[in-house]
Amino acid sequence: MPVGRINRIVGGFYYISTEDGRTITAVPRGKLRRSDGIVVGDVVDYELTAPDQGVIEGVHPRRNLLKRPVVANITQVAVVFAHKNPDFNYLLIDRLLVMLAALHLPALLLFNKTDLVDEKTASENAQPYRRIGYTTLCTSTKSGQGREELLAALQKETTTLAGPSGVGKSALINMIVPGVKQPTGAVSAKIGRGRHTTREVRLLALPEGEGFLVDTPGFSQLDLDFISPAELAGCFPEFGAAEQECRFQGCFHDQEPDCGVKAAVAAGKIYPWRYENYLTFLAEVRSWEEQKRQRP
Ligand code: GDP
Ligand code: ZN
Repeated sequence: MPVGRINRIVGGFYYISTEDGRTITAVPRGKLRRSDGIVVGDVVDYELTAPDQGVIEGVHPRRNLLKRPVVANITQVAVVFAHKNPDFNYLLIDRLLVMLAALHLPALLLFNKTDLVDEKTASENAQPYRRIGYTTLCTSTKSGQGREELLAALQKETTTLAGPSGVGKSALINMIVPGVKQPTGAVSAKIGRGRHTTREVRLLALPEGEGFLVDTPGFSQLDLDFISPAELAGCFPEFGAAEQECRFQGCFHDQEPDCGVKAAVAAGKIYPWRYENYLTFLAEVRSWEEQKRQRP
């Protein structure tokens, strides 16, 4: 049975990207219809009933399910910041990277608006994250810089964008998939639910190669309340090797003596600001934990 990907849902019709790159519309088989459980991003088995119509026979198990927007089977998140306008800061970048690490979602880091800074500044901004090991690109939707690299980094992935407002997420989506009008707060007249309709989400097929881009950015909520203090250090990839040198198992790299992470900071192997950000988040996740203990 053919397998496809739900790229859009409108008024009870499910749009499926087929393996040969077409889109067909389908309705779920009876028992699936009641379950109300098919979302954009789902991988489905379907049967063709006409050249461009079909019936959905089953939904494959999901690798993950994001809530806002509701989309399944994301394989990476492009974290977008701007070199300036608005200014980025490493604490905010790290917060998003830590969240994604805790969710086991690989991150791709984009510094957009590269046209607003000189080349040296751009590479200095990106350099720390490159050194840590994140795939980091400098892009500009004005000059087209980084477009090819970005398209390459999106291959065979299902990517959603995240980042503060105003950094150019919509512009980047339009740069990659030209002609896509962002349905910003669009009201769907067809289903007629009026102004309160949640914005629809779509998977956009990449114009070259294979892969999908989610048209609606995600991760507007940045609380670390779902992360435990014990798992936080694991969200900093460069701490891994240093942690092996901690005297105590379960070291929080905070007050403990003979800490490999603190030694690595002192030796210049870990950026002091990354360690500072770690401590900031550690205090935060500890206070979330404390709150949960008081009000379980
Ligand atoms: P979003 O809120 O992250 O979706 O950001 P938008 O895509 O709406 O862009 C916000 C503003 O930044 C708009 O005025 C864009 O024209 C501008 N912008 C987007 N990308 C770039 C870029 O690469 N360079 C410059 N100079 N401006 C950009
Ligand atoms: Zn330690």
